[in-house]
Amino acid sequence: MTTTEKHVFQAEVNEVLSLVVNSLYSHREVFLRELISNAADALDQLNFRGLTEHTLLGDDRDLRIELIRDAKAGTLTIRDNGIGMTHDELIQNLGTIARSGSKKLMQSLSAEQKKDITLIGQFGVGFYSAFLVADSVTVVSQKAGSDETWVWESQAKGDFEVRPGERRGRGTDIVLHLKEDAKEYCDEWPVREVVHKYSDYVRWPIKMEVERGSGDEKKTEWQTLNQARALWTRPKGEVTDDQHREFYKSLSHDWQDPLGWTHFRVEGTHELTGLLYLPAKAPFDLVDRRKSGVKLFVKRVFIMDDAQEIVPEWLRFVRGVVDSEDLPLNVSREILQKDATTRFIKKQVVGKTLTLLEEMAAEGETEREVDGEKKKMHRYQAFWSEFGRMLKEGVYHDLDSRDRLAKLLRYRSTHGEGEYSLAEYRARMPADQKSIYYVAADSLATAKASPHIEALKKRGYEVLLMTDSIDEWIVDALREFDEKPFASAAKGALDLPEDETEKQKMAALEKTLQPVLERVQKALDEQVKTVRVTDRLTDSPACLVSDEHGMSARQERVLREAGHDVPQQKRILELNGEHPVVKKLSTIADEARFADWSALLYDQALLAEGSLPADPGAFARRVAALMAEG
Ligand code: ADP
Repeated sequence: MTTTEKHVFQAEVNEVLSLVVNSLYSHREVFLRELISNAADALDQLNFRGLTEHTLLGDDRDLRIELIRDAKAGTLTIRDNGIGMTHDELIQNLGTIARSGSKKLMQSLSAEQKKDITLIGQFGVGFYSAFLVADSVTVVSQKAGSDETWVWESQAKGDFEVRPGERRGRGTDIVLHLKEDAKEYCDEWPVREVVHKYSDYVRWPIKMEVERGSGDEKKTEWQTLNQARALWTRPKGEVTDDQHREFYKSLSHDWQDPLGWTHFRVEGTHELTGLLYLPAKAPFDLVDRRKSGVKLFVKRVFIMDDAQEIVPEWLRFVRGVVDSEDLPLNVSREILQKDATTRFIKKQVVGKTLTLLEEMAAEGETEREVDGEKKKMHRYQAFWSEFGRMLKEGVYHDLDSRDRLAKLLRYRSTHGEGEYSLAEYRARMPADQKSIYYVAADSLATAKASPHIEALKKRGYEVLLMTDSIDEWIVDALREFDEKPFASAAKGALDLPEDETEKQKMAALEKTLQPVLERVQKALDEQVKTVRVTDRLTDSPACLVSDEHGMSARQERVLREAGHDVPQQKRILELNGEHPVVKKLSTIADEARFADWSALLYDQALLAEGSLPADPGAFARRVAALMAEG
């Protein structure tokens, strides 16, 4: 009777496998980093459980990773005495892609995108990189606390086998049956070199048996290949950029270099060490608000992944490690949620990240090495285009960081093609300008062409062009920057400085147009709150504005799209008293025709701001009728 079970890989695993093998072929030595990183995690997990389950470690207390080369068999084995895997865990962990985000991403990629090496970093290389160098992989594993050993084996041809096996004690062996052209990993030096290059920071000893001497003097000895000291515990100046890059990659499974990092130590009433990295590309699982990319250690002992208690939601893209001297080793999520130390740590994480961002923002364009190439880049701009939206969330939710975050915001504006800080805008403000003006629309083109900003532009006032749905809420939360209030170009009165002649002109216009305003008001009574003459427009005949403290039409729309029940607010229709169309209105005596014109003015004001007329058919008919007349 055979007890071998056959299983097929989940469809996406096959895709990831072929993606990894095809796109990473020229960097195939990364397999060792990935497998060693998994082994180190397994040791961390065991060590953590050993804190409370005192018999779990038994006599086998010397936690380590061993690399075993067998030239005769043509194999390289990565062995750990860590937590191990059960029968079901082998099938689950090595046969499916557990992270639902990765699965979705994989399904959404086109064939062309799947060849893109930078994309694979977004869901991690991991265990499957074993097939970069092996045509067959055997995993022999015994879960800590169990005496069953299970063997998992695959040639990566769509399926794998699971059967009972033998192993001396807990832990996992990953046996790589090396491909013909990867046999060099049976030799000492290639392995040594790769460990040195990619895994020197690993906190557990990586040991390998080597031969020394010659002839009769020949003997073998076990050597430790790495420093076996957690990277973050080393003095800042001793950690090289390359070590940071490799550590980040093993931590995040990202394929690309990080954009920046901060390594800090806090001493005093609380002691902690942190190592935080900014990814170059937004990870696919950013939508998952409960995730965090920071691991928590207590006195060098791994405690948990995704420690969201010590990282605010808006920093969920940060990857790294925090190691506290003050928390108890048996700290749980429940304790973390209540502990005052947690708040202190969180404050440090936020503060150090903000300092890093501020430094990047101040540094301008620099030459940096990215993924092995020298590149001229403005790091903060690169960061902003990937993660700006996250910082905006921070402005909204994190009162304590609001002022520092406000300085990190970047916006497009009528000034030019760049993205500018509020301080830059502020510095360009003419002396007579009272407010920081902005206009919000669904697209940059709509914002730029918005009638609301005509008069502002004419006066030489710069207007911030906002296109993110969250932007208007952020401005409402900030209220002002450097003592100047924000003012929406589409809300309230613009409060432009006017000289005497301008004032008189407006007053005269208001007076002559009063009967027309009343008639328009009557015709549009259902739609508008009031009709008034404005100094906001120069080229357009009309626009719609909200009350100074009311919501804009776009804010209402965003809320409605998010499923909120928002009543339609009536807005103010503003007319440009000097526009020929408005002047002509007063000459129309026929009420039905006047009503048509009013409706047209209203609808085209909607269109100009990016909203749709309530009855597009009626709008089209009125336009057609007008054209026919003309
Ligand atoms: P990831 O490490 O990103 O989760 P991998 O594909 O590298 O993805 O590994 C999948 C899972 O298999 C791991 O999360 C872990 O649970 C398990 N695993 C891999 N290697 C080992 C090991 N040496 N010991 C115990 N579990 C392991």
